[in-house]
Formats: sequence, structure tokens, C-alpha cells
Amino acid sequence: MKEKIQNAMRNIPSMDRMLLMPWTKKYEAEIGRDSVKSIISGVLDDQREKILKDPEVPFDTEKIASEAEKRVKARAHKSLRPVVNATGVVLHTNLGRSLLAKEALEAVVKTAESYSTLEYSPETGSRGHRNDHVEWLLCRLTGAEAAIVVNNNAAAVILCLGALAKEKETVISRGELVEIGGSFRIPEIMALSGTKMVEVGTTNMTHLRDFESALSEDTAMILKVHPSNFSVEGFTSSVPREELAKLAHDNDIIFMEDLGSGMLTEPHIKYGKADPTVRSCIEAGVDLVTFSGDKLLGGPQIGAIAGSACLVEKLRKYPLLRALRVDKMTLAAFEATLRLYLKGESGSIPTFRMINRDTEDMKKQARRFKRKLLALLSRTRLRSVFLDVVPVNDTVGGGSFPGSELPGFAVSLKLPELGSAGKLAEKLRSFEIPVIAGASDDQVLFHVRTLSEKDEKWIIEGFKDMFSIDPGKAESID
Ligand SMILES: *Cc1c(COP(=O)(O)O)cnc(C)c1O
Repeated sequence: MKEKIQNAMRNIPSMDRMLLMPWTKKYEAEIGRDSVKSIISGVLDDQREKILKDPEVPFDTEKIASEAEKRVKARAHKSLRPVVNATGVVLHTNLGRSLLAKEALEAVVKTAESYSTLEYSPETGSRGHRNDHVEWLLCRLTGAEAAIVVNNNAAAVILCLGALAKEKETVISRGELVEIGGSFRIPEIMALSGTKMVEVGTTNMTHLRDFESALSEDTAMILKVHPSNFSVEGFTSSVPREELAKLAHDNDIIFMEDLGSGMLTEPHIKYGKADPTVRSCIEAGVDLVTFSGDKLLGGPQIGAIAGSACLVEKLRKYPLLRALRVDKMTLAAFEATLRLYLKGESGSIPTFRMINRDTEDMKKQARRFKRKLLALLSRTRLRSVFLDVVPVNDTVGGGSFPGSELPGFAVSLKLPELGSAGKLAEKLRSFEIPVIAGASDDQVLFHVRTLSEKDEKWIIEGFKDMFSIDPGKAESID
């Protein structure tokens, strides 16, 4: 056994030999010789381990070399890079949620390449606060007295609970103990903030009297959480905001709402149950509303807190705020996005544009794209290409409008010679710019709601690479 192992080990190529392979030079220039060596060394270690487990494991130097090249190449590739979202899910959390408006992008670049007024007031020549850039805008757009921003909505909730309800009780309906996106669970967030959770009511029914009887000397807050990613159907009841606000204020406690998707204006979505706007919550008497910047608002990742001036003042003084402070590029993008709302131009924000797309327009786009794909795929050796324009259900996503479906259109594609739809979807993901498509039955679906002209080009380019179509010859296709 030992001898077998030793023999097999001797077959493993040395590092020096591996480094003689011509492809290593290219990647050394990209990520440095030490990195290349360390990745190759990992491949050789894996091989040693395989031999220790089974000395008879078939040995193939070429396979080791190609595995090494694959791993080095993967590391040399930019990791955070664009993909095509052909899923029809507008706010796809894994694909980066909102796309920024042109104005927001320009603001990011300007703020990143120059010094800025981030924490400086040119009027007085003295220190300003980074929050000042967006507070007035948020107040204008929500009707709140004061506002503050942090890294994301999760941070906003933690900050509020910590600053205002630590070591005291927070009352919440059992119907709102939600989990959002796997890592944000209300009971855990409350425990982390140091507030004592007092659950009232049941999953489907919570009444005002449940809240009333739960209040004690130790109650600091009533918390309402928007059930962002599900809807309870049937025999349900929750207490209207106005009633909770009155109860809270009569008892001198805070009424806070985690609204999730921070809608600033009515989205004109005709399908499903609409989320409330931040303004409507404030008008109903909510003292503090927290919401995300990159969901329905259509801006960068940020958490906004809008509400009563005296509570926001307490948040400003809470030391955790420093650890949650927002980066200047994010602030620049957020300010520019809010200004679009103020100007009445929120319709040009990509998230809104995609949610509100006209069905006929999508059908036309799908037909055009289908023709482009057909022209391209008929230049390949494939004998059977199935392309069609089909109606599909798109979604808003990002925990907004749960249960609502947006009727859209997709181009369906089936290439039986390449195998199943799963295989084709895998090929699409391996494109230079990965294409994430939908799937139904045995076909891949390109939902056009989330496809820009640029995305269509990227898909076409990917197919050209895949079938080695000479770009010169295929010019007429796009
Ligand atoms: C999305 C969501 C969160 C988390 O917001 P992030 O901005 O992703 O941190 C928290 N609460 C609710 C109700 C949500 O919908």
C-alpha cells in the first residue's frame, strides 16, 4: 500500500514543471506569480489527497493541468461583474436589486473622482454632517419631520431598536415575525438589539385588545413589520396603523414600522395588493418608518429612517450610528435618485420603468429579439431550433408586492441537440457575460421586461462565441 502511494505521488508534476506551461505567463501578469503558484499548489494538494484515499486513482497529468488552468482563470476573472437578468424579476436580490438611474450614476462618478462636501459646509467653512445631504429631501418626499440614513434597512431596524428600546419591551404581532432573504429574521434582530420581544395575537389574527393587554411599564415600543415576501389569505385580521398609533401615544410609547420596500409615490401597479407609501404611514401616525433604498425606491443600497424629530435626534446620538454610516458614493446616488422624485421624474428610474412597462411594447420587443436569435442560430450547424414568443408572469421581487404577478412576454428557446433546458441554461450562465434566464418545462425563457438593448447584444455576443460565428460575417444580425 505504502509503496503504491509513493509511486503514485511520484507522478504528480512538480511546481516548476507546472509553471513551464505557457498559459501561466498570461495569468502571472494578471494576478501575480505568487497567486498563480498558490492556486496550482492547491490543485497538487488535492491530487495528493486523492492518492492517499485511493492509490489506484487513475492519473492524468493533462487533467491536472487543465484543472489548474481552470482555477487560475477563474481567479483572474473579475468576480463582481455584469450579468444579463432575463428572469423578469425586476428587483432580484441576488443580481443586485435596483439598477441606478443615469443621474445617480453620474453623481457617483463625480463624487468618487473629486473631493466633495461630504462632511463640509462651504457656506460656513466648517464641518457639516453627511446626513444633511438627504434629510431635507426625505422629509419633503415623506412628510416626516426628520430623517437619517444608514447602510441598509436591516441596520436601520437594529439602530432604532437599540437606541429606543434596549432593555425594554417591544410589542409585535405574531403575524409579523417574518424572515426576509434568509438572513433577516425579526426575532433575531430584536434579540441582537437588546430589546425584549413581546409577541401578541396569532399568525392570522391580531386585535387591538391583544396589544392593549400586552403593554406594561417596561414597554418602549410597538413594532409593525411589513410582511414583504408573503401574503396571508383567508381569515385574517391586523390592527390598522391609526389605531396602533393612538394606543401607543395614549400610553407614551413609540410606534415604529419596518416598511421594507420604501415606496415614495404610488407605483401605478394594477396587479395585486399595493405596498403602502412611506407618507401614508407617517400620516397614519407612525413615529418612525424604516425602509430600503434599493427596493421599490429604485436607488442604491441604503436604509432610511423617517419620522419624529425628537426620536431621530436620539438616533443621531446613539454611538452605533457611526458603525452604520453610509459611504459617499451611495449618498451621492441616493441624493440624485431622490431629486428625480422631487422633480416629478421618478418614472425614468429603471426600477419603475421596468415595473410599468407596456405589454404591447414588450410583445414587440420579444418578436424583434426572436428574429435576431433566429437569424443568428440559423448560421450554426444546429438542425433544430425552436424559438417562440410566449406570455409569461414577471414579478417585482425584492420582497415587494408579494403574490402579485406582472403579465409580460418572453422568447422561449429550445435546442434539443444541446440537451435539456437545464443544460442550455448552464451554457448561458457560462457566457463571457453570464445570462440568467427563466425556464419552463423543457425550454429556456428570456423575459424581455428586464432586458435592455445592451443585454440583448450581450446575449447575441455570447451565442456567437459559443458557436464560433465570425463576428464580421454576423454583422447584419445586430
Ligand atoms: C427587505 C426588507 C428588510 C431588509 O432590508 P435591507 O435593505 O435588505 O437590509 C427588512 N425588513 C423588511 C420588511 C424588508 O422587506
